[in-house]
Formats: sequence, C-alpha cells, structure tokens
Amino acid sequence: MPTTLAEALEIQRDEDATPMAGGTDLLVHWPEQLELHDRDYLDLWGIDELRRIEWSDDTLELGALTTYWDVITDAKIGAAFPLLVDAARQIGAVQIQSRGTWAGNIANGSPAADGVPVLMAYGASVVIASHDKHRQVPLERFYAGYKEMDLAPDELIVAIRIPNRTYRHERFIKVGSRRAQAIAKVGAALVSNGSGWRVVASSVAPTIRRCPTIEAQISDGEPLSSPDDLLPAIRADVSPIDDLRSTAAYRERVMSRVLYYAIEEMSHR
Ligand SMILES: Cc1cc2nc3c(=O)[nH]c(=O)nc-3n(C[C@H](O)[C@H](O)[C@H](O)COP(=O)(O)OP(=O)(O)OC[C@H]3O[C@@H](n4cnc5c(N)ncnc54)[C@H](O)[C@@H]3O)c2cc1C
Repeated sequence: MPTTLAEALEIQRDEDATPMAGGTDLLVHWPEQLELHDRDYLDLWGIDELRRIEWSDDTLELGALTTYWDVITDAKIGAAFPLLVDAARQIGAVQIQSRGTWAGNIANGSPAADGVPVLMAYGASVVIASHDKHRQVPLERFYAGYKEMDLAPDELIVAIRIPNRTYRHERFIKVGSRRAQAIAKVGAALVSNGSGWRVVASSVAPTIRRCPTIEAQISDGEPLSSPDDLLPAIRADVSPIDDLRSTAAYRERVMSRVLYYAIEEMSHR
C-alpha cells in the first residue's frame, strides 16, 4: 500500500503486481477463484495525490482515484459535463459508485463499461506514468482489441483529462435488463457542438469505439426517415456479438432505435 505515486511507480518497475483502485472489478471473482489470492496487488487507495479534481481554462482533470460518487456530488462537473453524471448514476448502485473509479473502468477494458463511452464522447485522454516517463493517449486510441490496451505492466493511469468544451446536444443511453445493477446490452454516448457529432458505441464490439460512419451520416444534416436508415452505418462501424446478455440482431436493432430517437429528439430542441 504505497502512499505516494513515486513509491507506487517504483514498486511497479520491479514487481509483477496488479494495480488495485476500488477493487470492484478485481474482487468480483475473489470468493471462487482461489488463484487470485496468491497474486501480489498494488493497492492505490492510500495515494491521496491521485484523489483530485482540477480545473484549468481548457481542461478538467480527474485524478485516477476519482470515483463515480465524487462526480455525482460535484455540481460544477454536473453543469459542464452532464453525461459524466448520467453515466455515473447508472453504474451499479451507491456502493459501487462510491468505491469504483473512472480509471478502473478504463483499465478494466470491458466493452460494456459505462464510464468509457461518455469520456470518449467528450474527447478525454488518459494520462499514464511509469517510473521514468509521463505520456498522454487519447481514449479513442487506447484500446487495440478485447481487453487489449496501450498500458505497459510498469505503467499506471494517473489521471483522465477532459477538454473543457461546450456542447449543444449531449446524450448517454444505456439499455440493460433494468435501471440499476445491470450490465449494458447496448450503450451509446452522443455529443454535438452544433456543427458535427461525436458518437461512441458500447457493448456492440470487442471494444468501446467511436463510430465515424454514423457521425458522418448524421453530421451532414440529411434527415432520417426511420431507424433503419442508420443500419448500414451501424454495420460499418460496429460488430455486435451474440452472448449471454443478448443477441447480435437485438443489439443492432436496438442501437438503430436508440440513436434515431435520441437524434430526433435533440434536433427538435
Ligand atoms: C455489483 C457490480 C455492479 C457493477 N456495475 C457496473 C455498471 O453498471 N457499469 C460499469 O461500467 N461497471 C460496473 N461494474 C464494474 C466496476 O464497478 C467498474 O468498472 C469500476 O469503474 C471499476 O473501478 P475500480 O476502481 O473498482 O477498479 P478495480 O477493480 O480496482 O480495477 C479494475 C482494473 O483496472 C486496473 N486498474 C485500476 N486502477 C488502475 C490504474 N490507476 N492504473 C492502471 N490500472 C488500474 C486493475 O488492475 C484492474 O485490472 C460493476 C461491478 C460490480 C461488482
């Protein structure tokens, strides 16, 4: 349990330890997967310098230990980035929200994560450190495949940087089996500054990803006559799968509908 980031990065250089923040993903299988008990963990929870929320003129920076609850209860973040609060409120329930971190959501690499799509829609970058360097990677370029990401074993995510821009339209949609304690079957985050859209899809591909074909179609202003008008673009941008939560056909159909009705409603405001 290091108490400074420098100490944590020194340990990460020499040890094969799994970083742990809130532990809400890491400890899910603890009771039945006994091999997890033999691993070494680098518990980040005592590093206060990672527990910070900082504004500058052009960015909001969330330290790596920022939890969902920190964001839900921060009125300034709610006013500037309402989708962060929308997503945070739909993650697990209060226990998970007060322990789970945004950085843990990114590093867990789940295609169904709810924090990642809103951060990606807002153009966030991941700030990464090792014992000898710092670097920054745009979140939309962070994932290479299912659970594959641009993070070396000696590196830690130390912060998330979000450009401080204003948007005319913002929407996060999560479709699950129920309103709380559900993993997304289909998710989408959309933002528009009035001249173009950024669209991010979750739970419909091996990674959460931006959707350039959908963005181009809806940004060119051509009116959509039905959800089916979006299907070719959805097929170009994502590749839904059949799994225990849903089928590919359901995911594609629902994605076309949630996007269509969100765009319809926002463009009439
Ligand atoms: C009951 C329950 C409900 C849930 N519901 C949802 C939900 O609705 N939506 C959703 O998106 N998620 C959900 N989750 C998953 C989880 O809560 C989130 O993904 C959370 O953000 C994980 O953050 P954490 O700090 O707990 O990560 P941890 O469990 O501590 O770590 C997760 C992964 O990230 C790595 N890691 C953590 N911090 C760092 C860092 N700073 N640098 C490098 N690597 C790091 C760890 O090594 C691990 O691989 C749920 C989990 C549970 C148990």
